[in-house]
Amino acid sequence: MRKRFIAFTLLFSSMLSGISYAANEQAEIQTDIPAVYAANTQGKKAYVSQMEIYLDGEQVKPIAYLISVDAYGAYTYFKLRDLAYLMNGKDCQFSVDYNEKTKQIIAKSGEKYTPNGSEMKASGSGDQIAYETDSPIWLDGKKVEMEAYNINGNTYYKLRDMGEVFGFDVSYKDSSKQAIIRTPSYTGPDTPDTNDPDENKPSNPDNTITPTPPPTPEPTSGKVDGKLTVLIDVGHGGSDPGAGGTAPYAFFTYQNRKVSAGGSIYETDFNLPVALCLRDLLEASGANVIMSAETDKTVTFAQRKTIIENNANTADMLISIHHNAFNGNASGFDILAQIKYKNGGDGYELAQAFEKQYLEDGRKRHAPTTFKEGSNGDYYAILRYAANVDMLAIISEYAYIDNANDVKCILSNEGVEKEAQAMHDAILDFYSTHEY
Ligand SMILES: [Zn+2]
Repeated sequence: MRKRFIAFTLLFSSMLSGISYAANEQAEIQTDIPAVYAANTQGKKAYVSQMEIYLDGEQVKPIAYLISVDAYGAYTYFKLRDLAYLMNGKDCQFSVDYNEKTKQIIAKSGEKYTPNGSEMKASGSGDQIAYETDSPIWLDGKKVEMEAYNINGNTYYKLRDMGEVFGFDVSYKDSSKQAIIRTPSYTGPDTPDTNDPDENKPSNPDNTITPTPPPTPEPTSGKVDGKLTVLIDVGHGGSDPGAGGTAPYAFFTYQNRKVSAGGSIYETDFNLPVALCLRDLLEASGANVIMSAETDKTVTFAQRKTIIENNANTADMLISIHHNAFNGNASGFDILAQIKYKNGGDGYELAQAFEKQYLEDGRKRHAPTTFKEGSNGDYYAILRYAANVDMLAIISEYAYIDNANDVKCILSNEGVEKEAQAMHDAILDFYSTHEY
């Protein structure tokens, strides 16, 4: 795994009480950032975050940065001093000092923070370059390590990580466009506006597009004998909406969330419904299906790794369902396959089967099947986890949801079902000539 989360030794954590240090791989925002940024070990592009931040019901404006840390994950990072400044006077306030001699960041819980003038300011104008850094915090004399980035001399951490360390609650709303911070004694609303439930869940949608119903599997041509087991990895979900795009026309997501023409849509609006439909189609054809999630929930990379490892002896293959976004102009599908098969073999042939079905559906290929190598095997984490336990795996990016024309193919129940059907047919086609 790329990350060393709050790496306490057990010895230390047993000495601490009252603060949760549970490992957390939460994405604050994840998008399918082009790999060119993610692969750059010299520094990563840090975009000024557009996220709205609410602290105990009031909007606050620390300058945070969205940094793409790997193929799937872009996370929002905050300055420790900004949080200390904002928490001043609250029950989880903490002081921050830098010891020049020992180069240690010293924090003391319960103490008032003394500003040094750097708070709530950007680290330079516009987008920046972030460098991974090892910047532990010494909190009340104990060392706390969090994944950190240095931007122009300032250290940035994930908001949720800081929440766990300093004892405030962090959640994300409205497909992660808002971060909600609550201190322990606050009991008011998350944001100043009162939420109109009808805005998100229309009771009587007068639209031509209806909410996606539970998929009804149709009889299919292929049939497998019940020994075939497919692990479906549902991309993103929960607090991580995945790549974002714009709806070219009004649309109701499978969760009955109304998206107006021009409104934001996310991968999570499609990954799960496609996955559920694929599950039903595969089961109707006699296959066993294991899902990384069957509801819209956050599944961390660590949890995905565990699911893969736990099913190493059961699953014949893994299909990871994603939808893409890039610059608004890119369109078509992408298949990402394991590097082991770059010169042929099962993974190559499985990718071919997918390409064949997608092309037959009238989808256009964005790029030839990608076999991308990272420093320790497959570049894409899911493919690597699977390869490490000798599981055949593939990632499907069926459409670019930030391309107004491309996304139309999935902005309907029929589109979602057609995508799932193509995956189902590709899998059965592949296993008609391969053992399982
Ligand atoms: Zn994705």
